[in-house]
Order: sequence, then C-alpha cells, then structure tokens
Amino acid sequence: MNSRRNSKPIQIGRVTIGGDAPIVVQSMTKTDTRDAASTIRQIKDLEDCGCELIRVAVPDGQAAQAIRDIKRGISIPIVADIHFDYRLALMALEAGADGLRLNPGNINDPKKVKAVVQAAKERNVPIRIGVNAGSLPREVNPQLTIAQQMVEAALEQIRLLESLDFDLIKVSLKAFDVPTTIEAYRDIAEKIPYPLHIGITEAGPPRTGVIRSTVGISTLLYLGIGDTIRVSLTAHPREEVIAGYEILKSLNLRQYGPVLVSCPSCGRAEVDIVKLAEAVEKELLKITKPIKVAVMGCVVNGPGEARDADIGIACGKGKAVLFKKGEKIGVVEEKDFLSSLMGEVERF
Ligand code: SF4
Repeated sequence: MNSRRNSKPIQIGRVTIGGDAPIVVQSMTKTDTRDAASTIRQIKDLEDCGCELIRVAVPDGQAAQAIRDIKRGISIPIVADIHFDYRLALMALEAGADGLRLNPGNINDPKKVKAVVQAAKERNVPIRIGVNAGSLPREVNPQLTIAQQMVEAALEQIRLLESLDFDLIKVSLKAFDVPTTIEAYRDIAEKIPYPLHIGITEAGPPRTGVIRSTVGISTLLYLGIGDTIRVSLTAHPREEVIAGYEILKSLNLRQYGPVLVSCPSCGRAEVDIVKLAEAVEKELLKITKPIKVAVMGCVVNGPGEARDADIGIACGKGKAVLFKKGEKIGVVEEKDFLSSLMGEVERF
C-alpha cells in the first residue's frame, strides 16, 4: 500500500482534512434543507453512526437561510452544496456554513467566483471545487478524455482561486465510471497540494453502489490518495457512513466500531450461521468501541479465527465455545448463542 500523499491540511469547523489527519467520513442529507427540523433529525442520526462532516443541498435562498437553524441543532460541521447561483454561496456563508462546495461546471464567471472567494476568505471558510463528469464546463477542450477534462476544469478554477490569494481549497473529481474517476484523481494528485475528497458519483442503490464505491475509493486509498470520503448511495445516508467506515477499516486506515469476522458457512455447519451472523451484525451496530468479534460455524477454522478475535464464538451441534482474546471462557447452549456473545462483547 502506498504511503499517503502529502496534502496541505484545511480546517472545516473543528474537522481537519488533509495532512496527517484521519481520513474523514462524510455524507449528505436527503431531506429538504428548508425543513430544518427534519434535516437536524437526519444529521443527529448520522452523528450517532460516526458521520464527521455533513453536506446539505442549497437549491434556494430559504435553504441557505435554514443553515443558521440547522447549525444550532447539530454538532458536526456543515458544508453548503451550491450550484448555478453564486448568491446562494454568499447567503450560506452569512448563515454560518463551515464549508462550501462549488461546481465549476455551473459557476465559473470569474466575477461571481471572486465575490464568493472574498466572503469565504473573510470567514476562513474552505471551498471544495467539486467537478462532476456529468456537468463539465463548456469551455474545456472536448478533444481530451473525460478524466483529463475533469482535471482541466478543476485546475482552471484552482488557478482562479489562487490568483485571489485563496488556498483553503479541497478538490473532488467524481464520475460514475470507476476507471475514469481513478484516472482523474491520480492525475490531479500529482499536480496540486490540496486535500482530495474522493467518491464515485451516483453509484446506485446499496447492493451495487457499495461495490462500485468501494472499488473506486479503495483503489485510490491504496494508492495513498484521498483525505475524506463520501460513499454516494441511493439509500438512507446512514448506509453511506457505515460503508465509509467499512472501507477504511478494511484497509486498516481507521478504527471505528466493531469488526465482524464470520465464516460463510458450508455443509459442515451444524447451526444456522447466516442467521446468527446477521443477528450479531445488527446488535453490533449499536456499539461504537473498536472490537473484533468472530462468529464461526464449526471446528475447522472456528477456534482459530475465534481465538484471533477479542470475543469469538465457535459453534457446534447445539453448543458453542466462547473465546476471549484466545482463551476459552465457556460453553453455551444454542438458545443462548446471541445473548451470551453480546454479553461478553458488552463487558469487553
Ligand atoms: S468455519 Fe466451518 S462451517 Fe464455517 S465455512 Fe469453514 S468449514 Fe464451513
């Protein structure tokens, strides 16, 4: 795995992005931003599963104003997502947004960008230059590949911000196509010092979207690229946050909450391991401490894997052995598999 690319850290509220800071997991609300109460409720739910930064859509002035109320009800920094109308960015800053996302595909008039940059600079608020393959500026050279066009669009906007003596910059280059996205990030990673927000856009519903996002995001992270991630899913944003942490945990980049090791089950298993693992997974969602839990179906790999875990269960016919840090701590009856395992997890 490549070492992490050096980037110039920025501060969005109390969250640092880039440099040596942990890779930040973020999401975006799916409520109507104008409805502050529902938006706050969704953000609190996301905070509970570890979301560290939240973005809200700002389609109109009322949504920009709502940021003031939303901020009062939440604990994580909020980023205003702006398209088309630069005045919404000014209103969002006025309302206390901790960060802005601008799309160079639809706001690139230097005069308008300058007005936003000046207001952001006065407040020390970073701007993400968020390029999307689906909304590239008309000015980019159509002879270039899509990935190159995305890079060009970002560099153009970066040069404009730098010319205004502004460097609180974060960049994203998202496409639905995974190789295009990877190519674009690899290219820009060598050209700029700013932190990168990575993700695959419009990845789809959870079953396929998580795979698509994981392939793209993990490949980049393995190359040392990426300072904050957002898994875009057609689902409740809680699923995005959970998937984000699973990606980081799989690459040993973050520790957050439990890790569940469970065997796939096979003809050797004498209990319903799929059902037990699903029940354990559901219970573990309520736990935030880092702990490795193993659920194994028989004696082939069971005791070995269970021994490696903090808490493990290796099941046999009607009975199972519980392990704690490699030590056998008891034998339990089938009816108590879940409760005994979870009891040990809680006590750990
Ligand atoms: S641990 Fe046992 S039950 Fe599970 S997959 Fe391996 S052999 Fe099959």
